Amino acid sequence: MLRAVFPGSFDPPTFGHLNIIERAVGIFDELHIIVAVNREKKSLFSPEERVSMMKNLVSHWSNVRVDMWDSLIVNYLSKEQIRVLIRGVRGVADFSYEFDLSMMNKGLNPSIETIFMTTDPKYFVLRSSAIKELASFGGDISSMVPPIVAEALKKKYDRASF
Ligand code: ADP
Repeated sequence: MLRAVFPGSFDPPTFGHLNIIERAVGIFDELHIIVAVNREKKSLFSPEERVSMMKNLVSHWSNVRVDMWDSLIVNYLSKEQIRVLIRGVRGVADFSYEFDLSMMNKGLNPSIETIFMTTDPKYFVLRSSAIKELASFGGDISSMVPPIVAEALKKKYDRASF
């Protein structure tokens, strides 16, 4: 049975994340989505809110599980006895960062294999930080995030105009 983990901040989940998830579900028998809790990193949505949105978005897949994790991702993989870590890459800047991260994880646990999935060209400009900024100014984000996320962003920024 092929199992994989897709970790991220998902602050908030976007169509870019969902595209990677959908493609990973087509390859792996079981996918664990890990919402990383990083108390050092300021997030707009609480870990609980991010988990709740993600659970809602993947509820139609019976082989996808959403967990929250506040420690090293390699520890989650060891606990679940999963070897494959999936990361999405939008371009060379992402790759450079992700490559370093994968080297670090390999150093911590040599049995881990990081698999990079390149973004779908439709989504390569999507990033949570830019979407939050756009939403904060009342911009139209309906092509970037699912409706429940757009609604949650709207509530956060308390704007009625998008
Ligand atoms: P991080 O874990 O660095 O906080 P995110 O939560 O934003 O990053 O994203 C989680 C994973 O999804 C990362 O591997 C990131 O590169 C990938 N990702 C984010 N947006 C996209 C996108 N539009 N297309 C492909 N992969 C993406």
